[in-house]
Amino acid sequence: MFRSISSQLQISYGFLVVLALFGVGIFGYLHRKSEMLRQVDEALQNRSKQISALLVRYDLDELKIPDRVGNRDSSPSLPGQPISSGDDPAQSQTILYRIWKAEAGEMKPVFQSELAPHWSGPVPHPRDLLTNGIFRTEQNQRQLVSRAVRNYVVLIGTDFSNRQAALNQFLIRMIFAEIVFLALFILIGAWLTQRALRPIGKISNTARTIADGALDQRIPIDGGSSELSELSLVLNESFDRLEDSILRQRKFTSDASHELRTPITAILAEGQSKPESIEEFRDSLKRCAGTARSMGQLVDQLLELARIDSNDNELIREPTDLDLLVNRAVQMVLPLAEEKSIQIEHHLDVSQADVNPVRIQQVILNLLNNAISYTETGGKVVVRLIETETTIEITVEDNGIGIAQEKLPHIFERFFRADEARADHENEHYGLGLAISREIAVAHRGTLTVESELDKGSVFTLRLPREEF
Ligand code: ADP
Repeated sequence: MFRSISSQLQISYGFLVVLALFGVGIFGYLHRKSEMLRQVDEALQNRSKQISALLVRYDLDELKIPDRVGNRDSSPSLPGQPISSGDDPAQSQTILYRIWKAEAGEMKPVFQSELAPHWSGPVPHPRDLLTNGIFRTEQNQRQLVSRAVRNYVVLIGTDFSNRQAALNQFLIRMIFAEIVFLALFILIGAWLTQRALRPIGKISNTARTIADGALDQRIPIDGGSSELSELSLVLNESFDRLEDSILRQRKFTSDASHELRTPITAILAEGQSKPESIEEFRDSLKRCAGTARSMGQLVDQLLELARIDSNDNELIREPTDLDLLVNRAVQMVLPLAEEKSIQIEHHLDVSQADVNPVRIQQVILNLLNNAISYTETGGKVVVRLIETETTIEITVEDNGIGIAQEKLPHIFERFFRADEARADHENEHYGLGLAISREIAVAHRGTLTVESELDKGSVFTLRLPREEF
């Protein structure tokens, strides 16, 4: 129950609020109490000084000491002013006192107010008392025992239960106010926490819907710039990529099935045909073998892509003379080019690099085969190998049919054929060659790009970073 983030936040928040209110409460109460004692002590001290002054000037019999501080009328016969702690009767205090005199080493009681302060134990001798006397608290009575002139010891006490009661009232009011504050803070805290954590609910709901198959769902973003909004943005981007990758995977599977169905249908059709002569039978078998061979090549390409997708194609690199490698590829396609009277020109810088030679040759062969396939008879293909400071560039340029601008962005997609009409399944034009070539370039931390113009020709560039080598 308390494992959710919101309840944990609320508990910590409530705990902090209780701690703060408790601290403030204790501080307020102690401060008030010490202030009250300070005032009472001050009154006692003044009274003690006044009695001492009276003892200096008068005989005890003459003295009539007022027992209410602040009530001037009760001591008309008293010489000197009684202590006033204000005209407010609630502020005035009843002062009780006892006076002892030290005689022959004994403390004799000599005077006391009608209601004398309670004293237990031996009375201290004047010489044992400090100048300021000693304060003590007896039940609800605050007392000051101090030394006065002529070997007198004066004990003054005042009851502060009224003030204590007022203080207790203050404490009760404060506890009540703190409970109200606490409830208020907890309510506001709960509201704030709920509000702050609402996006988490949206995030998990969206994630659940996506997991249930609704790939196009996204977390609604309310425009705030909180950490959770940023998290939602990042998650939405990840969902975009996830959707994209799943959709591509689905398309790939459906395209692959479609491509495989065509030759299978052809083979089945051959199987159902009834050749009338041995010649026809032989031709039919040949066609079946050709279709099966082309199917085998398609399956090889599919397997290669599957390996690339599962990151199973860890490149084994070795120092390779790229110029020799490109030259070898050119030699391999020469017969094909000659068949179409296409001239192949090459300008190759001497260049060595750490690459996987089989894979790089595969890319160059694919570019050369495409250039020859998509160039009319009598055309021209130029291959260049150029080393710059940071890159090695291999370009294959032709003056063939070119690619329409709107198709260029899709040219590296799997099974994409710019010109379906010319797609020739028997020559393994499945639209996978460029997709595989680009994966190989990326695996070498390079790029494969194209520039092309319809009916003018195309330039494919394989760019490999030099620092990689
Ligand atoms: P394919 O096996 O069909 O050639 P690729 O992936 O190698 O598959 O090429 C994809 C498509 O790109 C081709 O079907 C073709 O339409 C277009 N293409 C590739 N190279 C060229 C080129 N040099 N000139 C014109 N079109 C090209």
